[in-house]
Amino acid sequence: MLNEIHQEPTGQVALYETEDRYQSLLTEMFGQRFTDYRQRWRETSERGRPGDFPLSLDLAINSGCQLRCLMCPLQSRADGGQVRLMDEKLFSRLIDQAREHRLPAMTLGLASEPLLNPRAAEWTAAAVRAGVMDIRLGTNGLALKETVIKALVDSGLTRLEISVDAVRPETYQDIRGGRLDILEKRIEQFLKIRASAGQRTPLLRLSFLKLPRNQGELEPFLERWSGLADLISIQEPIWFPGSGLPKPPGPVKSIAPNCSQPWQRLAVNYDGSVWPCCSWYGEALLPFQAGEISLAEIWRSQEMDELRRSLSSTDGHFPPACEPCEC
Ligand code: SF4
Repeated sequence: MLNEIHQEPTGQVALYETEDRYQSLLTEMFGQRFTDYRQRWRETSERGRPGDFPLSLDLAINSGCQLRCLMCPLQSRADGGQVRLMDEKLFSRLIDQAREHRLPAMTLGLASEPLLNPRAAEWTAAAVRAGVMDIRLGTNGLALKETVIKALVDSGLTRLEISVDAVRPETYQDIRGGRLDILEKRIEQFLKIRASAGQRTPLLRLSFLKLPRNQGELEPFLERWSGLADLISIQEPIWFPGSGLPKPPGPVKSIAPNCSQPWQRLAVNYDGSVWPCCSWYGEALLPFQAGEISLAEIWRSQEMDELRRSLSSTDGHFPPACEPCEC
């Protein structure tokens, strides 16, 4: 039986768990600090005061991906497969700020496949040492070889999030251009290695994005994985320019009136450019480079205030980049 534990205000992502693993485990690990963080997250979901520093930092520790998924704009970008690593000095600068401001949460894997950075586990461990509580790594899972899994299990990562989206190999090949049998072996090996290390973390989240191509596969996906994964995420597709999905007919239902991301997170791309959210639509919304200005200054900047103000406007005049944004 799946219990819903989180629903994005936009309705785009619903997160389920088979038992109370996420909240109870992280509360056990971090006590009141974690409870306070989740309380602040709820307040900022309602666009309460954003505070002095984001609650979450989303990082592209590299660019590129080895797959060409239908729903991802990388599939049409000439440099979509090119892997360029975030500069180590920039990463250290971000980690120093995370430590100084007691950052609660971090995600590795913005707009890219983070396991293409050979230092992903090492950098996760640096975030743990800096005091970040909840660290997620979102991946297609195909690079999860034994040594990588062991390093991630040892790193202190709290959540490993793998996109699956299919139960039939042909469906997976059509949607993601990869091999499902390899991915399934990687997931099973991860579960064995985590168990033999005697650890409950990283919690495993598997996701299923509902697409016309995988119709009829959600139920078998849940049967296959809900007893093994700690968390299951069921997502609605979002159309981005350059993706391989057809543009939905009719007017876009922009999530701008409900978007709370600029109250909760900042994202930094591998090249230091800063986004106010984790959506591709937000990639050009801010003029900042994280190597030149602190995250705290960005968070309190006129540009972020202006973005929050216009997202809260009652006259429906949202920033043009946010108008088509469904996520
Ligand atoms: S592009 Fe705008 S509406 Fe979309 S997530 Fe980013 S800030 Fe929110």
